[in-house]
Amino acid sequence: MTAIAIELPDEVVAARDGIVAFAEQEVIPRHQQNHELFNDPRSLYREDGRFSDALIQLIREVRVASAKAGFYQMCVPKVLGGGGLGHLAYYVAWQELFYRCGPRNKLMLYALAHWAFGPSRLLERVTPEAQERIMPLLMDGTRSMCFGLSEPGAGSDVSMIQTRAVKDGDGWRISGGKIWTSNGPIADFCVLFAVTDADQVTAKKGGISAFIVPTDAPGFTVQRVIPLFGHIGGDEAELALENLYVEPWQLVGELNQGFAAALYGVSLGRIYNSARSVGSGRWAIKLALEYSKTREAFGNAIANYQGVTFPLAESATELHAAHLMGINAATLLDQGHPAVKELSMTKAYSVQVGLRAVDRAMQTHGARGFTNELGLTDAWHALRIVNVADGTNEILNRTIAGRLLKGDLDL
Ligand SMILES: Cc1cc2nc3c(=O)[nH]c(=O)nc-3n(C[C@H](O)[C@H](O)[C@H](O)COP(=O)(O)OP(=O)(O)OC[C@H]3O[C@@H](n4cnc5c(N)ncnc54)[C@H](O)[C@@H]3O)c2cc1C
Repeated sequence: MTAIAIELPDEVVAARDGIVAFAEQEVIPRHQQNHELFNDPRSLYREDGRFSDALIQLIREVRVASAKAGFYQMCVPKVLGGGGLGHLAYYVAWQELFYRCGPRNKLMLYALAHWAFGPSRLLERVTPEAQERIMPLLMDGTRSMCFGLSEPGAGSDVSMIQTRAVKDGDGWRISGGKIWTSNGPIADFCVLFAVTDADQVTAKKGGISAFIVPTDAPGFTVQRVIPLFGHIGGDEAELALENLYVEPWQLVGELNQGFAAALYGVSLGRIYNSARSVGSGRWAIKLALEYSKTREAFGNAIANYQGVTFPLAESATELHAAHLMGINAATLLDQGHPAVKELSMTKAYSVQVGLRAVDRAMQTHGARGFTNELGLTDAWHALRIVNVADGTNEILNRTIAGRLLKGDLDL
């Protein structure tokens, strides 16, 4: 049975089925073999909150195995040595991974190159020298990167960033700080955004540049790991930058035009998070439907009560709509349309309905819904965060309203 009339291109279907088979062969068994590690947070994190060596090793193993199999880098542009698949393949592959693997299989997050952990389309405009020196290390999965845009005083409003890159000889010296940098505690490289021309920033004409830097360079420090949701460690870092020297070859894209790169990165994040929300929501609803057929109350399986099944039916309807929006927005991007409004709608809607689906699945499970074993709480945590990361729902609505008011009324 198919629910979608739009036929996906053959290469997208092959990518989706291939990465799921890879996850089944290489990712899920690693979880099973290391279930003690994954079930004990004290084994997952070091004292300082970073991932433990054992976890970092497993993550690297998954990245490298996937790169060898040709999945990890399949959505990276061909100019960078990747498979050249587009945004649709990226959306479809992530959606299916989240649907099939569920939130407990954390290593799955590394089976396909994440847009910010690299390698990704974000690096399409690196210099030939960076391509030679850095790209091979990212492409083979041995190294990873992070995306350093947000700062303590600059989140939704990127123009408020204070990190400065001051000219020094041929290069620049970067000073400032970043926050919430995902993968920051373990990344080998960072795409850093800094003000290179404050006047241009004030005039809203550019003035922010992107640089790719090794995280072991003098002046680059991971100041702390930020645990979220009562976890004892985490994957978000606060970074300190002090007189960090960068050379012209480290520029990503044009000088003073980093804002466009930042926006594009966030767009990739919106596709990823839409896929994550739809896939996780579908996974949760499936779990809830299965449970409802087996759990009995008042002489019947609870699946017989419309009070239980109607919320799940509503969520299935919402997820179906969100999935169609995701396929549409990603296709528009592949066709060369900016899809600003459509992608904003897709991310905002997908996250809301994904989160609602997980919440309803928890309710269906009664008290069991709150146990760690099922993974529903992991999914809820992840999607609640996604409500903020890569554009809050309010900022997405602001963008949508702005487009509508400018006359973009096509729906
Ligand atoms: C788990 C996680 C991972 C992240 N990873 C990264 C990363 O790898 N790299 C990176 O650079 N950043 C990252 N971020 C940061 C993320 O991009 C920001 O959190 C996000 O842009 C919002 O910024 P803020 O948190 O500073 O909120 P603020 O911008 O301070 O907003 C606070 C509140 O005000 C609302 N608000 C602000 N302006 C308006 C307005 N005009 N109209 C209506 N409401 C408004 C917002 O919606 C929000 O509810 C991550 C965040 C999280 C939670």
